[in-house]
Amino acid sequence: MTKLYLAIPCYNEEEVLRDSASKLAKKFSEMMAAGKITADSKIVFIDDGSKDRTWEIITQLHGENPVFQGIKLSRNRGHQNALLCGLMTLKNKADAVISIDADLQDDINVFDEMVEKFEAGCDVVYGVRSKRETDTFFKRFTAEAFYKILEKLGAKVIFNHADYRLMSKRALEAFSHYKETNIFLRGMVPLIGYKSDIVTYERSERLAGESKYPLKKMLALAWEGITSLSIQPIRLITWLGLIIFLISLIMIIYSVIRFFIGATVSGWASTLCSIWALGGLQLLAIGIIGEYIGKIYLETKRRPRFIVETFLED
Ligand code: UDP
Ligand code: MG
Repeated sequence: MTKLYLAIPCYNEEEVLRDSASKLAKKFSEMMAAGKITADSKIVFIDDGSKDRTWEIITQLHGENPVFQGIKLSRNRGHQNALLCGLMTLKNKADAVISIDADLQDDINVFDEMVEKFEAGCDVVYGVRSKRETDTFFKRFTAEAFYKILEKLGAKVIFNHADYRLMSKRALEAFSHYKETNIFLRGMVPLIGYKSDIVTYERSERLAGESKYPLKKMLALAWEGITSLSIQPIRLITWLGLIIFLISLIMIIYSVIRFFIGATVSGWASTLCSIWALGGLQLLAIGIIGEYIGKIYLETKRRPRFIVETFLED
């Protein structure tokens, strides 16, 4: 049997919290009755510095039913940090932790499947959305484009997976060695390795209240994802510089030919060729400096260089 913990970041969620809590408690008692999870499994809310009654409700829930626990952050630190706090605080308490949003847009009925896969030996089980029908066209389009771009930039992300996933104690322990402060969890978890699997579900609408991820935060998260997982954008500068410099060479050759044909406009070639040649060389130089900055950037993250999965000893 698995000792399961839930980590649920909450920011100004007074409208959905009670509703979500009772659905989760019901699901937990069913799973406990069916012998799938232990009786001391917990549902833990992480209050990300909410300005409404969220913490008050968490405190009440904790008083009413010991299955609920709460962690309060000193101020709003954003969804990713709140979730990280939950995972790191709970990593030694549970056999496995599932992270899920407070609005229960992600289907809680796949908990069973996640736990089954965990018991079958998976250290990470990703929740993957099968359809995006409940999203607006805009959100669907931007989100799917984002996953594609990240993939092109060389970051390994699971397509259509957000932050609904199960992680084993061992995976969380390994993850705790990723000390970087700019975090994009869904891009970092696949770096751990270990056996993983996916479960698919359909995402529904928010129970109540509004999205706490307006466009501005969404774009910030996307940018964080790209810049914290990839130094490819720097390489683009190098390539751009190289291409522009090559174009300038072609321009020089072209001008020389025109000179011999005798069809020159005086001053044109020397001005334009030098603009392009110098521009290209400057970009190239910035790109090369960028390459080193990129290396320094990756070094400063001090990511673990390896994680041992098994050691057959003695
Ligand atoms: N959230 C948080 N801190 C923030 C913003 C959001 O902890 O600064 C939580 C929020 O309470 C919810 C989860 O992050 O549990 C996802 O937010 P939301 O459902 O609003 O995002 P969406 O589903 O619209 O992408
Ligand atoms: Mg939501």
